[in-house]
Amino acid sequence: MSTIPACPQCAMENTYPDGDNYVCPDCAHEWPANAAVSADDADEPVVKDANGNPLADGDAVVLIKDLKVKGSSITLKMGTKVKSIRLVGGDHEVDCKMDAGNFMLKAAYLRKV
Ligand SMILES: [Zn+2]
Repeated sequence: MSTIPACPQCAMENTYPDGDNYVCPDCAHEWPANAAVSADDADEPVVKDANGNPLADGDAVVLIKDLKVKGSSITLKMGTKVKSIRLVGGDHEVDCKMDAGNFMLKAAYLRKV
């Protein structure tokens, strides 16, 4: 039963599913199983652009500020369009293919178009 998460309240692991909820017998805490599942699904976090809109693979975005590329003299200009992004994990969560090359950018510097 390792798919059942430990209790978020007391961290005990005697939890069990009850309908749509998980139940902790130790502290009587109940919480929705769906929320726990999505919280567990950390491999694909929702990536949001500068306006808080969720981004997806294949979305087109524009840069909302000039970005200097570390370790190079390249500056990606504000307003640069990226036709098709790819979401990846990590600190810089958006893989952008541009004329100047491939760059990993933070979603916070992008706006969906
Ligand atoms: Zn508990």
